[in-house]
Order: sequence, then structure tokens, then C-alpha cells
Amino acid sequence: MNYDVIVVGGGHAGVEASLSSARMGNKTLLISMLAENVGATSCNPAIGGLAKGHLVREIDALGGEMGLITDEAGIQFRILNQTKGPAVRGSRAQIDMDRYRVIARNTILNTPNLDLAQEMVESLVVEDGVIKGVKTDLLNEYNASKVIITSGTFLNGIIHIGEVQQVGGRFGEQTSVNLSRSLKEDCNLEMARLKTGTCARIDSSSIDFSVMEEQGGDELPNPFSFRTDRAEFRASKKQLPCFIAYTNEKTHNIIESNFYRAPLFTGQIAGKSPRYCPSIEDKIDKFPDKDRHHLFIEPQTAENTECYINGLSTSLPPEVQRDMIHSVKGMENAKIVRYGYAIEYDFVDPRELKHSLETKKIKGLYLAGQINGTTGYEEAAAQGLMAGINASLSLQNKEPLILRRDEAYIGVLIDDLVTKGTNEPYRMFTSRAEYRLLLREESADTRLSHYGHQLGLIDDALYAKVQLKDEQIQAGAKLLEETKFTPNKEFNSFLESIDEAPLKDISTAQQLVARKTFDIEKMLKLVPQLDEYEEYIKEEILVEGKYARYIEKQSLEIERMKKYLKINIPEGFDFNKVSGLSKEVVEKLEQFNPPTLQAAMNISGITPAAIEILHIYIKIDKRDNK
Ligand code: FAD
Repeated sequence: MNYDVIVVGGGHAGVEASLSSARMGNKTLLISMLAENVGATSCNPAIGGLAKGHLVREIDALGGEMGLITDEAGIQFRILNQTKGPAVRGSRAQIDMDRYRVIARNTILNTPNLDLAQEMVESLVVEDGVIKGVKTDLLNEYNASKVIITSGTFLNGIIHIGEVQQVGGRFGEQTSVNLSRSLKEDCNLEMARLKTGTCARIDSSSIDFSVMEEQGGDELPNPFSFRTDRAEFRASKKQLPCFIAYTNEKTHNIIESNFYRAPLFTGQIAGKSPRYCPSIEDKIDKFPDKDRHHLFIEPQTAENTECYINGLSTSLPPEVQRDMIHSVKGMENAKIVRYGYAIEYDFVDPRELKHSLETKKIKGLYLAGQINGTTGYEEAAAQGLMAGINASLSLQNKEPLILRRDEAYIGVLIDDLVTKGTNEPYRMFTSRAEYRLLLREESADTRLSHYGHQLGLIDDALYAKVQLKDEQIQAGAKLLEETKFTPNKEFNSFLESIDEAPLKDISTAQQLVARKTFDIEKMLKLVPQLDEYEEYIKEEILVEGKYARYIEKQSLEIERMKKYLKINIPEGFDFNKVSGLSKEVVEKLEQFNPPTLQAAMNISGITPAAIEILHIYIKIDKRDNK
């Protein structure tokens, strides 16, 4: 019954936490309510998307599992925002959700050092502010000096479908009441409530797909994992289409005339919902002028026997759900297998956490995933991986791995959570990252694999491949920078032949590539030596060439920030005189009196913007004193 690390909950956070801990050499136990549901996708059968795809790539680069499972269980792969800049593109995959679970569970069971137990954790054993282990519903007591809680939406979960309320962590599953009580009473953690929701699932054979728009995957699909062989993947991957349907006036009338029965509006639900995944009743209420809303009909498995209706999340009563679904073209005869529902659950204020995801109050207790106020599989998996890594590093008496905001979306996610907290389900967006151009999906491996390698989560052979990729990109970018052209008549007529405007001054290939219209084909005509590289390396060289100046500017800004974080805050500095700081920030600074800007940055609730303002005022203060 003695372990190094115990992980509670086998959702996406728990899968990554337990695998990383075991792979880093710790005797690890994963305890979850239902072994079948390890790796279950509670809501949509898809992984990735805008900014979420970045997270999956980063998890993969650090040695996590989500990308690999998605490649195997994926049934459709698309790159979203393909026509936009490389920083905001996002990979998304439809998955066979049954297969995803089976692969996740089998990976757990086949990993050395890792045990799986189907039990419910009822309480935490804490002595003098230190975690000692957990007690379960079977009266088992397991001991460990590190415990990671990844309990998702299961703490005190209440499910709403119209007037009906049920207790449950997901529809048809138990809820966890005592663990929530233990976190509150034994650990003294601040907790509050949030809400999320899902749509009905339909028997696919009852849908008339012929009247809907088909949406296929990319012709040349890209795998999520850097470890998956692209060519093999493309040759073997069978893809399924999704379909697009629309709500209409009739649907909207049905919903509107039943607002009075919507738990969201009757006061039955108190928790705050995810702003960016609103329910259909929310959309009709907030956008009354819109005459239709998109619905994406997504297969849940490779056999496509049941479909998920993305865009129709609801907690309206069953008969209203039936009417509104039947009002949609192509779904007149739809048979509902499972009704949509909303769920309210407890979460812990993430400001209770350090950047390592260890709680400040209880040594050795880590929290990851939806319990920290996030929403989404990818956000959960990213935190789970980091909690597993940091619990392991702590057992080795090593410093935690804290990714910076300019290094990874994972760094942005954790920094946002632990410094700002959240009062609504937090999801990742590219707009949350200040240094988006540096944090591209495709650069995740060259940015982060060295950490995965140091931790023992990425093997030597894979790391050598990443290093080679990096060298090739750097060499290609250098070639673009060094290849100079004199825009004489001959060169200009060559430019014209590739539909480019003639030039007056001496130019480099990099400058030409920086023109928005310059693509790989044109680049190769100028610098044919680059043709020896694989297609995706060429694309990266093109990106590096196009955005070289911006990337350099962002890198300089980061260096500047690193330097000024070392600046001392003068003794007796009056934080009240700094205009632009919120009252809360001033109170915190006065309370902790940090000696340096770095120390100020480490205080929860102090944002990078506040540090920037403080920096300016310290400079003014020093100048005035002189
Ligand atoms: P979960 O995946 O919830 O897993 C928690 C695990 O912990 C479960 O296996 C559970 O059995 C186990 N567990 C809990 N308590 C105990 C205990 N005491 N003892 C043992 N095991 C325990 N995300 C989106 O991005 N968009 C959406 O629109 C969306 N809608 C959702 C709708 C619903 C109804 C639900 C339930 C979730 C929705 N999500 C959505 C959220 C998404 O499912 C989660 O963000 C993600 O699954 C969280 O992962 P997790 O690992 O933190 O927890």
C-alpha cells in the first residue's frame, strides 16, 4: 500500500500525471472510480483546435501521451485557420472516443511502475501540513509523499436536465462528495462552483446526411505527435467526414418559448459557464438577431453509429430537446440516444497553487485539470503532465520545471491560473500568449524536447531527430539570409517570371520571402539547395524567413524582460504612488514587500503588465533620487 506518487482520477490530467510519474521511475498508483472510463472524453469526440492543438504538441514534445493516442484513435484530421498566419493555426482531430479510452487504459496497464485501482478516494491523509496518503471507499489506505488530484467535474457534481436534478460527476456516474469536503476541511483550500454542459447524442442511422454539407479532413493529414511517422500515417489513415447543419427560426422559437424551463435562466444553476462554449439557449438569448447557428454533426466512433451535435449543448428538458432537434433539416426523424445536460461542480481556486502545481498549504499535494478551474481535455492533460513531472522532480530533490510564458502555451496556462485565478471555466486561446510567433505548433518539439529528454521522457533517438530538424531549419534560414541578389535586369525578369514585383535595391532571399505572397515553390526557385529538405522542414524555413524580424523583436523583448526582473525594488518604495496598478495588486505588494521585480512577479495575482508599470516607476524613482 506504499507508493511514491498517488494520482486520483483517470481523466486526461490523470493519464498524463500517472504516466509521467511512472516513467520518471516512481512507484505510482492511479486510483479512478471506473477503470473502463480511464481516458474518457466527457464531451466532444475531438482533440485539439485553436490553441488547444498547440497544447497537445507541447505535451508531446515533453514526452506526454495525448498526441500519440490521438494519432492512433483519430478518424479525421484538419488544420484550422490554414489561410491565416502560422502562429494561429491549430490542428484538430475527430477521434473514435471508445478507442481513445481503450488505448489510454492499456497504456496505463502496460507501463512499468504503474498500478491502476478502481476505487473512490474519500479523504486525504494530512499531518502537520504534509500529505501522507489517501483513504478510499473500500477502507483501503494508500500511503505516498506526493498525491496529485485530477478529479475533473466530479466534486459535488449536480446534473441538470430541465427540472430534473441528479447527483453525478458525469451522466450515469457517481459524484465525489467526501473528497471535496476533505480538500475544504482537511486542507483548508478555497473552493467555488462552476458549470459546463454537453449536447444530445443521436443514433446516426436516423439522420439524413444527404441534405447536409459534408466536411472532410485534410487531404494530406498531419499527425499530432512528432513521434508518428508522417508518411506512414498519411498512407494508412482512414478518415471519416463530419456534416454541417443549421438551426432555423423554428428551432429558435422552440428554445425561446421554453426559456422559463431552462435551468440556466431559472436560477437552478448558480455556477459560471464557459463563455466560449455557450449552450444553445445562451446563444439564442444573447444573439436574438441571428437567424441560424452552425451545427457540426461529428461521428463518435469509427463505426459512426452515434453522433455528437457540436453547437447544441443544452440543459433544456428532454421533450424540448426532442422538438428542437427534430426542427433541424436532416434530423426530422432523429432518435436521441442520450440527452444533453449541464453539470455544476466544485473547483479549487488555482491561486492556492504554486507554479509547480503543488498547493501552497499542503506540502506534497498537487492539483491538475478541471479541478483548477479549466475546461478542456488539452488544458487538463497539460497540467497533469506538469504535475507528474514536478512531483517526480521534488522526489529527486530537484527544482520544479516551470515553463515561462515565452517558452510554451503550457507556461501561459499555468501562469494565468496561479497568478490570476479564474471565476469562469478557463480555456486556452492564442490571444492569451504574448509571444505567439515563438510558440507555433510546429516549433513545439524544437522548443521543448530538450526538457523531455533531460527528464528521461524523450529517448535519445527521438531527441537526435529533433536536433537534426532544428539544425536543418537554422541552416535553411541562414541560407535565406545570406543569399544576396543584385536586382539587375536579368534578376528582375526572373522575379517577374514568378509573379513578383521587380526590385530597386540589393536584396536577400529572406527579404523576398518576407513578402506575403512568397511561397515554398518560389523560395525554391531562388534557393534550390533547400529542396533537399522534407516538406514540413521547408515550411518551417519559410516561416522563419517570413517572420525573422518579428521573431527577433520578440526575442529581444524577452531578453529585456529577463534583465529587468533582476532589478531591486528600493526599500520603502511607495506602491501607492504607482498609477495603473489595481488596488488588489498594491495591497499584495505592500503585504509581501518583494525585494526584486522577480520576487514581485512570483506573488499570486501580480501580472506581467503590473511588473512592466512597476519597472517604469522604479526607473523614475531612481532618476529623481539622483
Ligand atoms: P475528467 O476528465 O473529468 O476526469 C476525472 C476523473 O477523476 C474521472 O475518471 C473520475 O472517475 C475520477 N475521479 C473523480 N473523483 C474521484 C475520486 N474521489 N476517486 C477516484 N476517482 C475520482 N470541455 C471542453 O473543452 N469543452 C466543452 O464543451 C466541455 N463540455 C463538457 C461537458 C460536460 C457535461 C462535461 C462533464 C465535461 C465537459 N468538458 C468540456 C470538460 C472536459 O471533459 C474536461 O475539461 C476534461 O475531461 C477534464 O479532464 P480532467 O482530467 O481534469 O477530469
